[in-house]
Amino acid sequence: MKRIQGWGNKETDYPVPEPASHYLENVVGPPHQLQKLSTDDLLKKVPPSTIPKHPLITTDPEERLRHARGQSLNDWVDMYDGLVNTFPDGVAYPTSEADVKELIQFAKREKINLIPYGGGSSVVGHLTPPDEGPPSLSVDMAKMDQLLDLNEESHEATFGAGVRGPNLESQLEKHGYILGHFPQSWEYATLGGWIVTRSVGQQSYHYGRIEPLFVSGHIETPNGPWDLPRVPKSAAGPDLRQLLLGSEGRLGILTQATMRIRRLPEEERFYSAFFPNFEIGTEAVREIAQAELPLSMVRLSDPMETETTFQLSGEEKLVKLAKKGLNLFGQGDERCMLIYGLTGNHAENQLADSRLAHIIRKHKGMMVKFYLGEAWMKKRFLTPYLRNTLWELGYALDTLETALPWDKLGPSRKAILKAIEHGLEAENERVLVFSHISHVYTNGGSLYITYLYRRAQDPHQTLSRWQTLKGAASAKIVELGGTITHQHGVGLDHKPYLPGEKGSIGMQIIRDVIKSADPEGIMNQSKLIDL
Ligand SMILES: Cc1cc2nc3c(=O)[nH]c(=O)nc-3n(C[C@H](O)[C@H](O)[C@H](O)COP(=O)(O)OP(=O)(O)OC[C@H]3O[C@@H](n4cnc5c(N)ncnc54)[C@H](O)[C@@H]3O)c2cc1C
Repeated sequence: MKRIQGWGNKETDYPVPEPASHYLENVVGPPHQLQKLSTDDLLKKVPPSTIPKHPLITTDPEERLRHARGQSLNDWVDMYDGLVNTFPDGVAYPTSEADVKELIQFAKREKINLIPYGGGSSVVGHLTPPDEGPPSLSVDMAKMDQLLDLNEESHEATFGAGVRGPNLESQLEKHGYILGHFPQSWEYATLGGWIVTRSVGQQSYHYGRIEPLFVSGHIETPNGPWDLPRVPKSAAGPDLRQLLLGSEGRLGILTQATMRIRRLPEEERFYSAFFPNFEIGTEAVREIAQAELPLSMVRLSDPMETETTFQLSGEEKLVKLAKKGLNLFGQGDERCMLIYGLTGNHAENQLADSRLAHIIRKHKGMMVKFYLGEAWMKKRFLTPYLRNTLWELGYALDTLETALPWDKLGPSRKAILKAIEHGLEAENERVLVFSHISHVYTNGGSLYITYLYRRAQDPHQTLSRWQTLKGAASAKIVELGGTITHQHGVGLDHKPYLPGEKGSIGMQIIRDVIKSADPEGIMNQSKLIDL
């Protein structure tokens, strides 16, 4: 059963190891004792629904509460501390394109704002019903999750857009195929959500981001049905797929999508390596990307992330031993951990690994072929559960991301981290901040930043601390010319920064496209862009 407060299912927990609590107390200070609001208290906040009755729509308060927010820090304060004050007035679970059509007609007739809902894993406020304007209806795509067609000749599979990661891969695996899109939210996030937010999976270096995997699809727009053609490539004018990618529910509801798939890899391995410091590690990662080494992922943690990963592992003895060994081989306190993946056939993996070994040695690095890589892989979808236990302990954790060309990445990282680290000095609060490079291209890489601070007794203060930190980091990213988001999308949180990145003509083009598909503006109002 999915949690109402926090991430993931109720049955899974990731307790904060005892030594990690001490570590956090040392770095940011002891947490405050805080009350958790019960679900019953939250339910009392759900007001009566104002939408007319419809056989496809439920107005059950718990359903409305469950669909009220996503996973942004703002959403967490709302749901854990009871600041939530807007709710969808109803929830629908369409089972067919005809249902989706009917819901759109109903929304047009009754002037209702439709919020398409995938897995609810948005971290930038994509799902928040506006506090002004018409009532909102959440359209949960969970029941449109079937494999509709498998074309083995063309290596393509068509799915209902509401299919979640595990269900999608298990349906493909039965036939010997894989999509290979593994964002950390894989357990809940859906195909439709990935496409309209331009999601990036952990093994994007091998499988690609969602954009190149997306071939075609069917969208029900308020202005009628829209089909993207199923062709491998086309020079017929602008690529309209690119308009749907990143449209964040504003153009209509994606009901099904055809995706490029691959044969299951013969083997897959995850290993680690260490570098003496982040600058050297970054140089090595750049060389790997520019040599186009056929790995499936590279993820280079900075020294603080490397140390925090050790501390949070709960493996005190092992960590002590590992540090001793690493010190002996010249990987001291500034050490940075690289996790890398090999996915493919055995001979190609071996070749890639030996070419990688050469680059690692050249950059004073050291390969560690046991435990760490596999441990990362096994825990990769469990790690987000730590945010729940940290929150309940009294710490707020959030992440942000950008991408920059290689020539700017190093200095920009330092400046962004500094802005966050010193962000709460006026309140005399410390912030733990660390980063990794996780998606690499020949011309640059993405920077993924995690920061942790103490929750305050007053939830408004917890929220204002986040606004200060997020604001400082975002302003720095814009000043340095980075993108405001490499993978999470725009939603509400990044909306103020979009005009800077798109320019005035770009903004007008986006507005015009939305108006063509949705002239009355009933789709996911207030997200991405103001019309
Ligand atoms: C723990 C965690 C880890 C994450 N890791 C990653 C990561 O590694 N990489 C990454 O890219 N992102 C990551 N994210 C962010 C998030 O998972 C992605 O943005 C994801 O693509 C959202 O998919 P969803 O199905 O949950 O969509 P939702 O959150 O439900 O919705 C997101 C947006 O898509 C729209 N939408 C959803 N389905 C449809 C549809 N069928 N038609 C039209 N519009 C639709 C919604 O209206 C909304 O605007 C993470 C989030 C969490 C909480």
